[in-house]
Amino acid sequence: MARRKKKFPCGHQGYGQICHRCEQKETDRIRRKNQRQAWEESFRNDPIDLTTLPKNVVVKARRIISQLRQDSNYRRFKGKRLRHNRFIISIPVNRDYRLICRDQGSQVIPEAVVSHQDYNVCKPGSAK
Ligand SMILES: [Zn+2]
Repeated sequence: MARRKKKFPCGHQGYGQICHRCEQKETDRIRRKNQRQAWEESFRNDPIDLTTLPKNVVVKARRIISQLRQDSNYRRFKGKRLRHNRFIISIPVNRDYRLICRDQGSQVIPEAVVSHQDYNVCKPGSAK
């Protein structure tokens, strides 16, 4: 019993009851949609707003935030206290972004992720 390719209504050719190419495309579409949705929803768990940041910065900032929660030693991330305000700690996320935290004694509380540019504009004289 030889199987014959048939032409589906979508225009593709193949075997079976449904077009597997279109089925695959639909599966991919749903997976991408779910991933996008999961990504958007993941921001709800962040203690600070990370929605405007590039994905790699978000991922890295989250890792630092979560590790700070377990151990507030910010120095292992090359974090430094600001010279003009010793309660503010600046932790480099990558070359362009820093995580700004507030020292609350036993805890280091994340306040914002700022770009290098914003950081230098709003806090002049505090560079590095
Ligand atoms: Zn098809």
